[in-house]
Amino acid sequence: MQGTTVLNSISIKIGLLFSAVFLTLLLILCSILYGVFTNLFVDFVTNDLLVRGINHAKALEDDYSGKMIEHVLSMERGGTTQVVITDKNKKILGSSVSPNQEMKNHILKNSKKNSNEILDNDWNKDKYMVTISTVGQNNGYIYLFYPTDVLRETVFVLKMLIIVTSIGTVFLGFGLIGFLSRKITKPLVIMKDATNKIAIGKYRQKIPSKGNDEIAQLSNAIERLGEQLQFYEDSRNEFLTAVSHELRTPLTYIKGYSDILNKGIVKNHEEQTEYLSIINKEATRVAFLVADLFEMSKLQVGEFQLNKDMANVNSIIERVAMTLRPVAEKKGIKLDIKLSPQIPEIDIDYKRIEQVIYNIIENAIKYTDYGEVKVHSYLQNEYVMIEINDSGIGIPKQEIPKIWDRFYRIDKSRARKTGGSGLGLYIAKQIVNSHNGEIMAKSIENHGSTFMIYLPKK
Ligand code: ADP
Repeated sequence: MQGTTVLNSISIKIGLLFSAVFLTLLLILCSILYGVFTNLFVDFVTNDLLVRGINHAKALEDDYSGKMIEHVLSMERGGTTQVVITDKNKKILGSSVSPNQEMKNHILKNSKKNSNEILDNDWNKDKYMVTISTVGQNNGYIYLFYPTDVLRETVFVLKMLIIVTSIGTVFLGFGLIGFLSRKITKPLVIMKDATNKIAIGKYRQKIPSKGNDEIAQLSNAIERLGEQLQFYEDSRNEFLTAVSHELRTPLTYIKGYSDILNKGIVKNHEEQTEYLSIINKEATRVAFLVADLFEMSKLQVGEFQLNKDMANVNSIIERVAMTLRPVAEKKGIKLDIKLSPQIPEIDIDYKRIEQVIYNIIENAIKYTDYGEVKVHSYLQNEYVMIEINDSGIGIPKQEIPKIWDRFYRIDKSRARKTGGSGLGLYIAKQIVNSHNGEIMAKSIENHGSTFMIYLPKK
């Protein structure tokens, strides 16, 4: 637990919280129980004393003889309650035990009573709970004494029980801490370790998790995060390798041929022109590559802003066709344009869409050796469609999904000749997607390819 005190650990916090809540509830419950219990007990004892006093008084009312008094006393002897029987002047006629000073004080203190009464039931302060019952018309009195230490003992047991339970609760709380440490904080500690490893570049982490609770979901999220970071790291490395490779080849040519020219060993003018033209071609290649890279970096950092306005894609196709027709004709390829007059103006970034259409038509011409390239615009449901079809070399089925990746070129050796960077379709796809459109390709190897651009009408 680096950087955290023991008290900061979640398991300790939960354990303490549990103990505090449980202790508070227990103490509230115990104090209620305590109050209810003592009141009930005192009520029960005093009522019992009164009933017994009345019964004894009734028995003595008819026969207040010494024999009867002895009979009453013998009934109470051996029990907890002590009885004192007096005549009407409070002279003691008999008692179940020899009355102590406290009992005598009660007898003297309490003057003539006409009925049955509780004289004292303050169990906390006094030694006895006391009742008085009058025999007949003030013929005499029966005092019943119940020692309060019996109740005090019971209350003491109750208090001990509360203390023991409270201590038990604290131990239970700590037991819970141990349990929670294993159940909750163990996976958290594993996740913390995993994220620390991710932070130092060990992206692929396996975090064991059970079930599908929040903790298991968090573990899975961290694993996925690691996978994603690994993916970005791999693509970054791949990208850097590709860029340096792309730059190295033309730069090697430029350096090699310029070195030869520099040394002045080429005497022949034609040879010199040829070398200069190679240098120029390779420099143009680097310039295009740098422009594509710049475009791509803008796409990636989100600085790519669309300058939208209402425009008709037919006019874009016509403009591009005008530029590329000479290139096609030079290769003996027919550029066939068929534009639907129903195409409405749509909200697009004219320059960017022109860049996409240019790129696809240029590719179609580039990868076609004979035949034709057809460009067709039409409406389909909610989309303005642009279809570019060629009779070229086509794309192997398994390669089709990859052509949209950065730097992906099917035939790397041929790419030197055709001069592509492998970024064109990647950029085209980003531009079309940012218009909420789609771009797709279908192809049959050696027969030709068809690229479809879907641009939403609205
Ligand atoms: P490049 O600049 O190399 O043309 P792109 O991203 O435009 O890069 O295209 C990626 C790859 O897809 C190309 O290298 C090529 O192999 C393949 N490709 C694209 N268009 C066509 C097409 N019309 N016919 C055959 N292959 C194509």
